[in-house]
Amino acid sequence: MSQNWFGETLYPDYQQRHQIDRVLYEKKTEFQELVIFESPRFGRVLALDGVVQVTEKDEFVYHEMLTHVPILAHGAAERVLVIGGGDGGVLEEALKHEGVERATMVEIDPSVVELCRKYMPSISGAAFDDKRTDLVFADGRTFMAETKETFDVIIVDSTDPVGPGTVLFEQDFYADCRARLTERGILVTQSGVSFMQDEEARNTHRRLKALFPDATFYLAQVPTYAAGFMTLGWGCRDANLRKVAPPVIERRFAEARLDTRYYNPAIHFAAFALPTYIERLKDG
Ligand code: SAM
Repeated sequence: MSQNWFGETLYPDYQQRHQIDRVLYEKKTEFQELVIFESPRFGRVLALDGVVQVTEKDEFVYHEMLTHVPILAHGAAERVLVIGGGDGGVLEEALKHEGVERATMVEIDPSVVELCRKYMPSISGAAFDDKRTDLVFADGRTFMAETKETFDVIIVDSTDPVGPGTVLFEQDFYADCRARLTERGILVTQSGVSFMQDEEARNTHRRLKALFPDATFYLAQVPTYAAGFMTLGWGCRDANLRKVAPPVIERRFAEARLDTRYYNPAIHFAAFALPTYIERLKDG
């Protein structure tokens, strides 16, 4: 990281760079390199191991799509599990649904939660203090292998498959997620920017397809997940769930009274329409 610029190190031959106004915090945690800095265009930015995780200015895109699509598709989600998600953005969106009685978040690195609450509080709002929140500091892989609880929606908001996040892309982790889902349960996962990370997306789909009658991707355009669509993995135990008609989602969205800036019922359906190069990743 040079004095005034942060250069992302996700790809050896391609880099997004952010001008740095001020470094607010920089430290190697027990699990990863963590830096939070202020940028003129995206506000405060969290990066882990040299990779942009979340920014104040565009977090709404990813967090709304990772959360409202599965919860409104399900229609009666009471128990939500978030794996990773240390910035609290997904947790906050999930708790906007009055029907959610319990939101469990399993994060491996307490420093991410502590420092995001301190330096980026707008992302999590009051989510960490909500009485429905159950915050667990543990490896998501181990938690899934050991928990006896069941969930209506499981959201994997992980880092990329390097370092501590690697285990969250593996078959046995997805199998344990499948086993802890209720009958109409939905699993959604962060599956990278498939134009750049095609292998990651291909592997995710192959693994979800082996476990779920309905496995596919849906898309969100997140400015700081550079070079293409953020590709979100979808695995659902009920193959008919995604076939609900638009008026059903429109009614659920209206009843939920969500104030969103990216998500709406039209994009809910449009997000599953995949460009051919991404559709072909599902061929394995
Ligand atoms: N949206 C971001 C992305 O797409 O790159 C991810 C944001 S979130 C900050 C990622 C979180 O996953 C981090 O807080 C990290 O500590 C957590 N994480 C990584 N590996 C984990 C594991 N094995 N179990 C639980 N949490 C994990």
